[in-house]
Amino acid sequence: MRIIRIPVPTPFYVGPVNVYLIHEEPLTLIDTGPKTKEAMEALREGLRRERVRVSDVRRIVLTHAHEDHCGLAKQLRDEAKDAEVFVHGWETGHRKGRLEYGENRALLERAGVPPPEVEGMRRMYEGVRRFADALEDHEHSELVDDDELKFEKGALRVVHTPGHTPGSCSFLREADRTVIAGDCVLKRITPNPVLSPDPVDPARRFRSLAEYLVSLARLRSLHPTLVYGGHGDPVEDYEELFNRYLRAIGERQSDIIRLIPKTGATAWDVAQELFPGTDDVHRFLAVSETVAHLDLAHTEGKLAVELNQGREVYRRP
Ligand SMILES: [Zn+2]
Ligand SMILES: [Zn+2]
Repeated sequence: MRIIRIPVPTPFYVGPVNVYLIHEEPLTLIDTGPKTKEAMEALREGLRRERVRVSDVRRIVLTHAHEDHCGLAKQLRDEAKDAEVFVHGWETGHRKGRLEYGENRALLERAGVPPPEVEGMRRMYEGVRRFADALEDHEHSELVDDDELKFEKGALRVVHTPGHTPGSCSFLREADRTVIAGDCVLKRITPNPVLSPDPVDPARRFRSLAEYLVSLARLRSLHPTLVYGGHGDPVEDYEELFNRYLRAIGERQSDIIRLIPKTGATAWDVAQELFPGTDDVHRFLAVSETVAHLDLAHTEGKLAVELNQGREVYRRP
């Protein structure tokens, strides 16, 4: 079973996204790239180099349902005559045009984001949505933790690694402990724990950073020899990356706690201090990251939180 990395361009700040071709029967793609002409051309060219065509693809597996990873899933599925699409059940909100914005709006307002900013974030989100086709319920199957994706030779084990999104999954080839990890593991950047409703109770916030730390530890327990990420080159030294991520997360948490004044602050206040002058596109991600850290600090007893006029205000105890 050969794993071929095919970098595909995206219109997003993150740069190219990796699509992985599992060159073995049934022919399988892990992720697809965004719905753009350029991405489709790059993917076709990558497949051609391996002497396969889109119509040979039998299975499309999504690490998660962000537009840069899932955008072409429907188009590819249709062209490959109903190739089977797999995505984790907790990506539901993302799968169908990602999130019902009402849920997201409630989470942002509770984080103290002013109404005009919430509206700006909604508009930005509408723009991003154009880069993916939604999948209907009958057009995909669910990835289940610990299940196997079987191939003629070999298999990939599904490892549910929530954090970046609730339904993010990684895939382990046990024979040599190679992992394909989507945006859970990126060589050059620490992945953003994206603000999401809890898939079990959408009125609550998904505890993204706490879940992410568990996922990183779970991957570590697999002793991976090589980790293919959603963007950039593969990671050869997971142990180094694990320690670097943990250090970065710890430092960011200390910075955030220090920024909270005696009078208390909302996540929005802290994000403004932490990422001053952030442009429109990145303000949502700035709030996302700040909320994730505040949640974790609160869980660890380092901060207190109270609801004040519908907004969460954090204080140092
Ligand atoms: Zn992502
Ligand atoms: Zn990505």
